[in-house]
Amino acid sequence: MSDLHDPCLPEGTIADAWRRTQESLPLISPRRKRDLQLLVVGTGLAGASAAATLAEQGYQVRVLSFHDSPRRAHSVAAQGGINAARPMAVDGDSVSRLFVDTLRGGDFRAREAGCQRLAEISSSIIDQCVAQGVPFAREYGGTLATRSFGGALVSRTFYARGQTGQQLLYGAYQALMRQVALGRVELLCRRDVLEIIKVDGVARGVVCRDLLSGALEVHTAQAVLIATGGYSNVYFLSTNALKSNTSAIWRAHCQGAYFANPCFTQIHPTCIPSGDTYQSKLTLMSESLRNDGRIWLSACSGDTRPAIDIPEVERDYFLERQYPAYGNMVPRDVASRRARELCNAGHGVGPGGRSVYLDLRDAIMSQGREVIEARYGNLLEMYERITGEDPFATPMRIYPAPHYTMGGLWVDYHLMSSIPGLFVLGEANFSEHGANRLGASALMQGLADGYFIAPATVTAWLAGHPTPQIAVDHPACLEALARVSERIEVLLQDVGSRSVDSFHRELGAVMIDRCGISRDAEGLREGLVEVGLLEQHFHSEVSVPGGAQGPNPELEKALRVDDFFALAKLMLRDALAREESCGAHFREEHQTEDGEALRDDENFAHIAAWEYRDSAEPIRHVESLNFTSLTPSKRSYQ
Ligand SMILES: Cc1cc2nc3c(=O)[nH]c(=O)nc-3n(C[C@H](O)[C@H](O)[C@H](O)COP(=O)(O)OP(=O)(O)OC[C@H]3O[C@@H](n4cnc5c(N)ncnc54)[C@H](O)[C@@H]3O)c2cc1C
Repeated sequence: MSDLHDPCLPEGTIADAWRRTQESLPLISPRRKRDLQLLVVGTGLAGASAAATLAEQGYQVRVLSFHDSPRRAHSVAAQGGINAARPMAVDGDSVSRLFVDTLRGGDFRAREAGCQRLAEISSSIIDQCVAQGVPFAREYGGTLATRSFGGALVSRTFYARGQTGQQLLYGAYQALMRQVALGRVELLCRRDVLEIIKVDGVARGVVCRDLLSGALEVHTAQAVLIATGGYSNVYFLSTNALKSNTSAIWRAHCQGAYFANPCFTQIHPTCIPSGDTYQSKLTLMSESLRNDGRIWLSACSGDTRPAIDIPEVERDYFLERQYPAYGNMVPRDVASRRARELCNAGHGVGPGGRSVYLDLRDAIMSQGREVIEARYGNLLEMYERITGEDPFATPMRIYPAPHYTMGGLWVDYHLMSSIPGLFVLGEANFSEHGANRLGASALMQGLADGYFIAPATVTAWLAGHPTPQIAVDHPACLEALARVSERIEVLLQDVGSRSVDSFHRELGAVMIDRCGISRDAEGLREGLVEVGLLEQHFHSEVSVPGGAQGPNPELEKALRVDDFFALAKLMLRDALAREESCGAHFREEHQTEDGEALRDDENFAHIAAWEYRDSAEPIRHVESLNFTSLTPSKRSYQ
């Protein structure tokens, strides 16, 4: 450990660490809670579940989201499922197996106490959601059904057809709206949070822009919780919603919150390939399809025959061949790299040879069309609508695309950032996925944070610290307001003639090339120069029409892209500093003879947490990772 904040990791054995921690956390009387105001930014699974639970506990909660309804948060897009270790499983699953899979899946770059807690809480999440009425898929006898996801040999993923995120979000939304009706939650939609307010070093509020009126607002509270999702849109083309952004966490970073492992970004192997250069969004085909779909390419490079004309013996089921134990269910980082390698070697199919087949033929033959339709119907319909190809008649074509960000704001075991009073939940924080997130683990983490962890730890922090009321005209609030006004004024000078999107697209192209599926030192250094230059051009050539008042979508985009430039540089720096390959961070210079990631535990078994400095290079702090219950081993899925 260097001079980083104390991660507050529990002492003693990790198996019962969370229970012991909970029992030792100070409490607050229900009466006092009613006088305390909390701010929650984001109404995805992490934010909605936290806000509902904290309000249920008695706090006054104000919730901000840029969406017009909490139900539109990006969590709604999650398709495949949510992991949980439930004793009912018949394949010998257990908390310890989920713990091991998560830690190993993240290539031993996560905290073991955090992974253990996640595995433990996973089962309670399912109970909570079932009690809310979330319609999980069920077996004939009524028990909850499960399926498999990558990186695990057991079937522990609970799902609601291909709409798991939507159904879970409806559960959290109901819980949230109940509190709105009870008057304990004040819900403010269409608010874009653009700045964090610190008073005497403690987070006490935010500045946001009302996206309809354009007015800047100050909101203060005794503590602030950020749950604003991931930053994959730094790549421009990603599976995330168009407006997913980094603004709230980046601004918190500029105010002193450390940013952990920014270069740990996940490229998902099964997305619908990009159709043309003007496309602005990519669509995910859930990993759950790999339960029944087989991934293959022609064994001959340059083969232009349609899939149907390629005989069985000439098909290369490359994941099954290279990873006989896990086959098509290898983790995402591994599957993405292998697909890209073969496409680069001329085996790829579709326009530009940038895709591989995901084929349901054998599953349809063995299980029948009805079964496959019932399992994945909405996903297959979506594929057909987008591509015009019928997945029941011809194999789907898929290619890796930016999808999830394991990096995020550094938080301690209590989910508090390095700014006291600022808690970070869900994809916006960096825990607990290490260098690679396993499929179906994000929903689990977001809901563990929101329903179970933050409600306990926020209370404990409030119990032990002063909780002053901050007036909205406090000098710290006015300063934060001025910072936002100034940024908006500068962007609205409308100095140039290029659209915001054109810059974002170019930034994305640099990032996917330099800091995508694989990285190398030279490319990362060049990337830093390219992003720096592009950022300069952005400020001198961008056109942001319209004014600060009223709705102005171009201004919204400009503010977001401005933050993406700064984040992109930090990602490149982080990737450059991490001289090893681990999980999704694949440095070309560090690989085994058979092209697998080569970790360097001696020098890099740590979390990199970056400190922002105004007009100076950021500082890289490290938090060492100690493993007491599992010795880091070579991550092999063969
Ligand atoms: C297509 C797709 C499929 C997925 N499928 C799965 C799956 O099957 N299983 C799984 O475990 N994971 C899946 N994931 C990942 C998972 O869905 C996300 O990691 C998770 O839902 C993120 O939840 P969250 O609450 O952290 O953030 P989000 O759901 O992204 O919510 C962010 C919230 O913050 C608000 N917000 C953001 N910025 C601001 C701002 N500046 N000001 C105000 N409000 C702001 C938004 O309005 C929103 O309410 C999938 C992801 C994608 C993209």
